[in-house]
Amino acid sequence: MSSAAEAEGGGGGRERLFFALWPAPALQEALARLGRRLVRKGGRRLPPEAIHLTLVFLGPVDAARRACLERLAGEVLAPPFELLLDRAGAFPRARVVWVGPGVTPQPLARLEAALREAAARCGLETDTRPFVPHVTLARRAAPVPAGPLPEPVRWPVADFALVRSRLRPGGAGYEVLRRWPLRA
Ligand code: ATP
Ligand code: MG
Repeated sequence: MSSAAEAEGGGGGRERLFFALWPAPALQEALARLGRRLVRKGGRRLPPEAIHLTLVFLGPVDAARRACLERLAGEVLAPPFELLLDRAGAFPRARVVWVGPGVTPQPLARLEAALREAAARCGLETDTRPFVPHVTLARRAAPVPAGPLPEPVRWPVADFALVRSRLRPGGAGYEVLRRWPLRA
């Protein structure tokens, strides 16, 4: 397999996909500013257009499974909600600095569970670790102490997205392929 094929998602016409919450551009800018305050030096801060919250990472997906995912995603029932990003934290081993909700809203948990089930029904294996909702703001960064954010960020969440990732030397490039409105 060529390294180009690998970067696209494992070769064989597969794409590297994930479900995510994708903030509006103004919110991405606000989160990028927050990232600059949290990580003042060192590390690789994400550019605003890359900032997101991963719901379910799918890995390499072929066309048939993608069609299955899109069909089941359209059937997901979870109401719109507000996400209050009120905590900062770090995954020190991964050298990631993030912000996230102190409390996971029920509709977010429901959405994540429904998409994980959809992935399984489409024959995809997903992460078995518990869902820890977070928005990565910097990679290869020294950890910040976990704690409440002085100015929490409100994120009105009205839809979710299927996103393609293309790995590149400077960091992944993401493309939102499709969005579905949240509905109960
Ligand atoms: P890079 O891998 O170049 O550092 P990235 O991790 O942002 O960039 P991807 O690996 O394509 O790009 O991941 C896309 C999203 O899915 C990111 O939010 C990433 O944190 C998340 N992710 C990647 N792998 C997994 C995994 N095995 N389990 C859960 N989430 C994952
Ligand atoms: Mg990665």
